[in-house]
Amino acid sequence: MIQFEEMGFTPGILKAIKELGFEHPMPVQEKVIPMMLGTENDIIALAQTGTGKTAAFGLPLVLSTDPEMNSTQALILCPTRELCIQITGDLTDYSKHTGDLRILAVYGGSSIENQIRELKKGVHIIVATPGRLIDLIGRRAARLNNVHTVVLDEADEMLNMGFLDSINEILEEVPEGRRTLLFSATMSPEIGSIARKYMNSPSEITIGTKNSSAENVSHNYYLVHARDKYKVLKRIADFEPDIYGIVFCRTRKETQEVASNLINDGYDADALHGDLSQSQRDAVMQKFRQKNLQILVATDVAARGLDVDDLTHVINYSLPDDPEIYTHRSGRTGRAGKTGISIALVHLKEKNNLNKIERLIKKAFKPLPIPTGTEICEKQLFNWAAKIENVTTGHKEIEKYIPGIKERFENLDREELLRRVVTLEFERFLGDYRHGEDLIAPVPEKALRQEGRNGKRSRDNKDGDYTRLFINRGKSDGFYPEQLIDLINQNTRGTKVPIGRIDLMKDFSFFEVGSDHADMLIRALHNKQYMDNRLVLQKAQEKTERNNRTNEFRGKRSSQRPEKRRSDKRQKAERHYYN
Ligand code: AMP
Repeated sequence: MIQFEEMGFTPGILKAIKELGFEHPMPVQEKVIPMMLGTENDIIALAQTGTGKTAAFGLPLVLSTDPEMNSTQALILCPTRELCIQITGDLTDYSKHTGDLRILAVYGGSSIENQIRELKKGVHIIVATPGRLIDLIGRRAARLNNVHTVVLDEADEMLNMGFLDSINEILEEVPEGRRTLLFSATMSPEIGSIARKYMNSPSEITIGTKNSSAENVSHNYYLVHARDKYKVLKRIADFEPDIYGIVFCRTRKETQEVASNLINDGYDADALHGDLSQSQRDAVMQKFRQKNLQILVATDVAARGLDVDDLTHVINYSLPDDPEIYTHRSGRTGRAGKTGISIALVHLKEKNNLNKIERLIKKAFKPLPIPTGTEICEKQLFNWAAKIENVTTGHKEIEKYIPGIKERFENLDREELLRRVVTLEFERFLGDYRHGEDLIAPVPEKALRQEGRNGKRSRDNKDGDYTRLFINRGKSDGFYPEQLIDLINQNTRGTKVPIGRIDLMKDFSFFEVGSDHADMLIRALHNKQYMDNRLVLQKAQEKTERNNRTNEFRGKRSSQRPEKRRSDKRQKAERHYYN
């Protein structure tokens, strides 16, 4: 592995690298820096934010810019004002010990006169959003005729934001012999066309796999009823007391509603969306960066400018239509070598979107059970206990009260005292969960349809009727008759449960049990944790309702969705008889 010291940086730059605490180059830096310093090639680097790409282009830029020359030598284009400020700050850090290198951020929404004044003083590196730079070029304040390097950072985001024309216009202004670097999280035909038009046989570097999400992010989902989304979000927040995450919503209205509900319910949360003024948005981002907020509820557009490295969670309150937006969202966690968790709250109709995303990121989403009230209280309680274990004691102001308090509890032994303290604390956590409402994942519609097709009249067993039950485990979970029978035996010790026909489908199954045992079995198994997820065990639909549903679905599907019908055939039952 090549080290920074071997890359040809000056002692001043190496000193800055050391002060920033960078010990070894990150993969994007290992690849880009030697290419920038050792060749003249144009470069396309496919890398997500958080991979260290700013230093990958920034350190060589600082090295190749001459502070003695009074002209703009490098130009960095990026999509948002926040990113502009961030890159400028990073470059300023890298050049701390490198003479008087002047780096200026120019972006819309702030005084153009000040920016013109600064440009007139002479700027070596301009970091700009495309729209504002065009204005400055038009006013002859930004002169690009000595630029030797252009960096297009987050090129895909710039295109998403409609900057294609501005980028074209700017690239026409820069000398042809310059070097161009393009950084993007994803490769798209539009990016390919910029590359063909403005780049000279670029070398392509990919960090991680193309169009895939960061390696260390786990992708999970909760299947929820649409009406339960907010409640499930709260449970996630309660189950993860140290959460520091962004909740992505689709619209400004939804963003504001979710944030307001969280605030009303006592969470450290706030909203970030386009209906807020720039100064309100700045204030929210500042609070979030300083960790005065644990949960930021945001739209994709508003969150673009926010760069935070140590998010624990990204939550998709609503999934985006475009799977690539999902990769941008989830790429905000799991940065700089840390692990991250991406969660999607999906109702049945949205499940299709998950499949599209899985194909893009080449990873499967893991279904998670909605935490129960008891599990949440338990987690909170142990989290609280860990805090007690780790608290620093010895504050003078507190010490003086200790003797009085000790005296007061003299007659309580240690265990009783603990019991009382824990009871008080537990009561506090119990809040919403007191009444034990459990949020149950919906049953896939295709399961009901399947049941319609398979649901013949229950046969008799020798002791009476059978009742047909639905269970949310199928062959794709490795769930076969052996597993079903084990599961039943282990949870009904001492009782012999008659089992009839078993119909195994890919994602779920139906089976018959002696009717006298059905309710007992549902009580024993429903909601129980099994194979990484909570079981749903319930009676299959009644015959009449079932037939109606079947007809309804059949009618609808044969006229409107013939292709779906074909795929349903694949959910063919594997049938077993045990009686
Ligand atoms: P970026 O992708 O440029 O936004 O960088 C992500 C984070 O990684 C930033 O906080 C950088 O300060 C940090 N970083 C960049 N390079 C290194 C390195 N070589 N070692 C450790 N951290 C780094």
